Amino acid sequence: MSDCIFCKIIRGEIPSKKIYEDDETLAFYDATPQSPVHFLLIPKRHIRNIMETEAADVSLLGALLYRAQEVAKTLGCEENGARFVVNCKKDGGQTVDHLHIHVLGGRSLDWPPG
Ligand code: 5GP
Ligand code: ZN
Repeated sequence: MSDCIFCKIIRGEIPSKKIYEDDETLAFYDATPQSPVHFLLIPKRHIRNIMETEAADVSLLGALLYRAQEVAKTLGCEENGARFVVNCKKDGGQTVDHLHIHVLGGRSLDWPPG
């Protein structure tokens, strides 16, 4: 999608610190990290949010989650764990309308969210 920030990152039109990439997914560091480890895992295909996925996207969703935990481990989160978050639309606090999984690690996080 032409005016989507994350699609621009995928195309290299906006610089990012990429961590992992394959044919269908991309991991890169969040520009405003909320913890010592904070990266995003996104599909390369523009999907607005988790609620706009279809049955045909089941394997893509699995790949996103699997890659997220794999990258988290390479960044040192295996021993203490991390938080895997998908914000969706207004009530979920989504600000970028391109599906993404946040992975936050490297410190202990509160629960529940405020
Ligand atoms: P959301 O609030 O939609 O769940 O999360 C969007 C995330 O994207 C935010 O944590 C924000 O810091 C990050 N973000 C927004 N614009 C950019 C950008 O241009 N580059 C990178 N690396 N992260 C971005
Ligand atoms: Zn997009």
